[in-house]
Amino acid sequence: MSGHVVVVGAGLGGLAAAAHLVGRGHRVTVVERGDVPGGRAGELRLDGYRFDTGPSVLTMRDLLADVFAAAGARLEDHVTLRRVEPAYRARFWDGSDLAVHTDRDQMTEAIRAAAGARDAEGFGRFVDWVTELYRVEFPNFIARDFRTPADLLRTPGALVDLVRLGGFGKLQGRVDDFFTDERLRRLFSFQAMYAGLSPLRALALFAVIAYMDTVEGVWFPEGGMHAAATGLAEALIAAGVEFRYGTTVEAVRPGRPVEVVTADGVLHADVAVLNPDLARAYPDLLGVKPPLPVRIGRSSPSCIVWLIGTSGPLPDVVAHHNIHFAESWAPAFEELLDRGTPMSDPSRFVTVATRTDPTAAPDGGHTLYVLEPVPHLGHDVDWQRATPELTERMLTWARDEGYLQGEPEVLHVTDPPAWRAAGMGRGTPFAFDHRFTQSGPFRPALTDRRLPGVVFVGSGTRPGVGVPMVLVSGRLAADAVDRVHRG
Ligand SMILES: Cc1cc2nc3c(=O)[nH]c(=O)nc-3n(C[C@H](O)[C@H](O)[C@H](O)COP(=O)(O)OP(=O)(O)OC[C@H]3O[C@@H](n4cnc5c(N)ncnc54)[C@H](O)[C@@H]3O)c2cc1C
Repeated sequence: MSGHVVVVGAGLGGLAAAAHLVGRGHRVTVVERGDVPGGRAGELRLDGYRFDTGPSVLTMRDLLADVFAAAGARLEDHVTLRRVEPAYRARFWDGSDLAVHTDRDQMTEAIRAAAGARDAEGFGRFVDWVTELYRVEFPNFIARDFRTPADLLRTPGALVDLVRLGGFGKLQGRVDDFFTDERLRRLFSFQAMYAGLSPLRALALFAVIAYMDTVEGVWFPEGGMHAAATGLAEALIAAGVEFRYGTTVEAVRPGRPVEVVTADGVLHADVAVLNPDLARAYPDLLGVKPPLPVRIGRSSPSCIVWLIGTSGPLPDVVAHHNIHFAESWAPAFEELLDRGTPMSDPSRFVTVATRTDPTAAPDGGHTLYVLEPVPHLGHDVDWQRATPELTERMLTWARDEGYLQGEPEVLHVTDPPAWRAAGMGRGTPFAFDHRFTQSGPFRPALTDRRLPGVVFVGSGTRPGVGVPMVLVSGRLAADAVDRVHRG
């Protein structure tokens, strides 16, 4: 049975939901307050430089292809993806570098050269382990909705497998079993930060994220990450989805039909799919007290992103993605997550998109995207003071690392207050963290009994944060629409 669905928000989650819905025969209207699709996967053009403003690491290419296919389109007709090789350059506190290759043999040899035969052999076992984790977790826990926590027990075999694989132990301890070299122990556990968690506290089952980047590899769309969103929107228009940009939804009134209120008038729909952050959608759009998991939800740490345009030369060793591991590890996570202060010795992430796509800068120029994790706004930091201080510290560091000579030609800073101003709860773009009690059935649900005709999609709901997850969320939301519509 098909109907009219209004999707509020053209983030990757909203777009993925629209793709599945239009492919299933629904009439779909997407209402987006911005002038372009993508949401957090945005773009900024400054003085001849073109920057992605949000996600920079694209993994799990097939999940993106699945979304296009759901709308009857082909990914390659709308987005040209290039493999990023090496996937990362890891730069360690002792001045050593290690390129992370997707090819298993090449990576094994790189580890053998850097850390010896024992860790090279450990890497093989690590890859087998995360691959098996992925095979168990993806169908049974990630790409699946849960009505109640008891649903977890519907696939007892998968739970047993997860226990057998050590998924409920601690991530760092499990990774430490495979490697003796401290650099590798960090390289294959830092991914917990993508889930908003310290590797020292995260459950080992989050090693599945390392499968996504280290084993499956990293991709980059021609024209930047934002081009994945514009390509998808283009495919959706061809499939018959109507887009209304520059239209802010002011309220959503649940019911049959559900009313979506904008300054231009009221849209009536069988179902409304809401892509804004849940922490804001409940009070601001629905006027309803958020459910407990949203009210008491623990947020991921936030980040500062510096976008820098520079025309100086770069050291040859600089790759598309560069992860700089600082010496401080456990104390840094304690500062960030427990004490709620910026890290005194931070690890940072630098993307130099011009390594793959020189058209993102004027001739001979480079774009630098520097990300440093910082506390969210639930902690007591004076950002008016902290942001300029952290900016100066980062610029000095970027010069020391050879990224920058002198002053940037272009500098744009996004800090936690700026994320909050963009509509993100507690000033973090990474929603609720993925501790066990906020994952799977325990994460805020896609539907709420009090809200007939309303379905949520995106990083605040299931399965969670990150581009692969919100693409999956789009399918789960479409399934929920079909249930709501039938019910
Ligand atoms: C700096 C940064 C780095 C990241 N790095 C990575 C990475 O490397 N790899 C990765 O996989 N993920 C990364 N992520 C996470 C990933 O980008 C997000 O999890 C994902 O894009 C969120 O998508 P979404 O659809 O849930 O939300 P959004 O993209 O926020 O979409 C919500 C949409 O709703 C619209 N909206 C909100 N309110 C209204 C309203 N009232 N009316 C109309 N429209 C409205 C917004 O404008 C927006 O377009 C990063 C995110 C950031 C910000």
